[in-house]
Amino acid sequence: MQTNTGKAIIASFNIITLLAEISINTMNNRRNFIKKTLLIGAGLSLSPIPTMASNLDEKNIVKAPLFTPDLAQLRKLATVIVGELPQGLNIIRIADTTRPASVVVKGGDPKRKIKLERTAYQLEYTNGTIMLDSGMDEATHLHFGKGGNFYPDSYATLQQALKKANMIVLSHYHGDHVAGVVRSPYFDEIAHKVWTSTKTAELMINRPHKPTLKIAADKVNQFMISDFDTYQPIAPGIVAINTPGHSADSKMFYIRLQSGQEFIHSVDTGWAMENITRNSMKNASWIKEDEKQIMAQFAWLNRLMATEKDLIVLCAHDSGQYINLRKQGILGDIV
Ligand SMILES: [Zn+2]
Repeated sequence: MQTNTGKAIIASFNIITLLAEISINTMNNRRNFIKKTLLIGAGLSLSPIPTMASNLDEKNIVKAPLFTPDLAQLRKLATVIVGELPQGLNIIRIADTTRPASVVVKGGDPKRKIKLERTAYQLEYTNGTIMLDSGMDEATHLHFGKGGNFYPDSYATLQQALKKANMIVLSHYHGDHVAGVVRSPYFDEIAHKVWTSTKTAELMINRPHKPTLKIAADKVNQFMISDFDTYQPIAPGIVAINTPGHSADSKMFYIRLQSGQEFIHSVDTGWAMENITRNSMKNASWIKEDEKQIMAQFAWLNRLMATEKDLIVLCAHDSGQYINLRKQGILGDIV
């Protein structure tokens, strides 16, 4: 059943590409986004990612115009792929860490501590699942340093979820999001259903985030690699949004469930919701972000929170949100 769903998802990519092009052609073009919807699916010919040193530069890469996604377009694209919308959005926490507020949020009190969760999400459909990021293994967790806890049982559950997923979507190349795939004992079984962007694939090959994450180009080239400048519908109820800033390849996601519940998953745009609500950058010495892009993204997310009362902005590492949304049943446990 799941395999059939996976095939249906992949088979629908040709149609998606066409529909996305039509949709993007008709979108408000006030920012002169260049239409480019080259999609390379598993069943299509793959353009290998070059192995030579990448010219991608974390500091200079973000040349895109300040991106203000159009919610109306995202809503349309979320239903452009034929199929049932997801019935639930689930989450798993594999590790956590606690850092001074002054490191997490510029201007934060150094004496206050902020706990950050390391998570992966799962879209649950009636006949399959899509994983949204893949968490990380213990060796990668230890490379992050700064203490914290790693939960081996959760990691084992996560690996089973990756194994049975119809698709695994990677938001960006950072270790806490890709290591669950790169270091998976089931890599050869799951690689063909990993979806990511060209930039993420290039960075994974040429600039692995941690030494544990070195991966050969021929392995990454087993993924589905998609190239898009603005939005890309991935499956019913989920649209990737190209949002460089946190890293050169960062993406956010619009998600719509059968119930009508909408989410914007802002991934690592802020480490905590208070980055977003206070319009305040992260303040860690090892993080190099494009401040203009991040501030534009904060502005968009704050505007959404003010005007779209039923839409929930998710933040991959926010601890309070992880606890509260699970308590309210808005996020479930991964299956
Ligand atoms: Zn992260």
